[in-house]
Amino acid sequence: MRLGTLDRRAVVIDQGNRYYYDVEVASEGKLSANPVTLLEQWDKFLDWAAFHDTQPWTELDVTCLGPPVPTPRQVFALAVNYADHAAEAQREVPEHPYVFTKFASCIVGPWSDVVLPSNRCDWEVELVVVIGTGGHKIAAADAWTRVAGLTVGQDISERRVQFRKPIPHLSLSKSFPTFGPTGPWLVTPDSVANPDDLALCCTVDGEEMQSSRTSDMVFSVPALVESISAMTPLLPGDLIFTGTPSGTGSTRDPRRYLEPGDVIVSEIEGIGAIRNTCVEPATN
Ligand code: ZN
Repeated sequence: MRLGTLDRRAVVIDQGNRYYYDVEVASEGKLSANPVTLLEQWDKFLDWAAFHDTQPWTELDVTCLGPPVPTPRQVFALAVNYADHAAEAQREVPEHPYVFTKFASCIVGPWSDVVLPSNRCDWEVELVVVIGTGGHKIAAADAWTRVAGLTVGQDISERRVQFRKPIPHLSLSKSFPTFGPTGPWLVTPDSVANPDDLALCCTVDGEEMQSSRTSDMVFSVPALVESISAMTPLLPGDLIFTGTPSGTGSTRDPRRYLEPGDVIVSEIEGIGAIRNTCVEPATN
């Protein structure tokens, strides 16, 4: 199943991604239009959806889709979670997941412009986990049952702020407005062939920059859910950006950073692609 948003309202997308129905309208108010509230009702929603597969469908204009979860309460992200990216960044592969946060105000949709605050901005394609039931101290063996779905994300990063001394500023450098494109929808884990092994890639202006598989993660999705929830309860609608593979601009030789007009396309097997154009900040 695919779940997205139109005007911040939860919609189920099907029929070759050409049609949708509004969850609140179709359920006659039994289920919420608010994606976070709907994710709090996740099991109830799945039970309902299983018996309501003949909704009147409305034609979908995919260009109108917003982020699958526009206002998550918590957004976690992983640094150096692919060995090849750790090597190119000259970092050791960590013994424990290295978690930081992206602040929720940076979350935008699948076709959003990315506003570049400087000439040191970089791309990072990532598999993003959307928490369904969530919980505290979740065992890895139960992790996939607490996940509502998977979506495509870009962890846009401002490297000058990130590498300010004396301690890297990961959270702020990755939370400028528009630095969290996500979408185009969440796909439930049962809808992909193997949720632990998906091809992901990123192109900038048509040139392939990143290409890997999520099976190359140092810490898998179940390991991340177990590790984060051991400390911080995971709430319905929370996002986990699971880290990026090699091929980021700041680690290339010569270095390459995003420029106004660049088009970033990020794609994950079984989920889809998002497309974001880089722009200069508005002057006023
Ligand atoms: Zn990242």
